Amino acid sequence: MAEETLFSKIVRREIPADIVYQDHLVTAFRDIAAQAPTHLLIVPNHVIPTINDVKASDEAALGRLFTVAAKLAAEMGIAEDGFRLIVNTNQHAGQEVFHVHMHLLGGKPLGPMLS
Ligand code: 5GP
Repeated sequence: MAEETLFSKIVRREIPADIVYQDHLVTAFRDIAAQAPTHLLIVPNHVIPTINDVKASDEAALGRLFTVAAKLAAEMGIAEDGFRLIVNTNQHAGQEVFHVHMHLLGGKPLGPMLS
């Protein structure tokens, strides 16, 4: 079994977070250091350290990340103007928390994607 992570503790509500959605596969909560007016993190409830570790058995949870992203973007009123989904992997992408997470960013023009 993969190691416990900061996000596992948020999923189990052992440390506080502003959780906006949870089901048996995924949990969504507000990023503690928001980079946009809407900045959510959507995570599988179980630990997958990076996208390099993904297995076929993770497909249900990983698919749910997109379903929940669409639902939350609509609920937050950012779907029509648009938003960005980001999944960072390892050092070159700046991954800080080794529990796969999808950033959902929106609420303002986000500019060019790459820097
Ligand atoms: P990464 O760089 O790994 O893709 O993104 C990790 C994200 O987790 C960062 O945007 C960071 O602000 C967020 N984060 C780190 N620690 C916490 C925390 O304790 N609570 C919440 N809600 N977000 C966190």
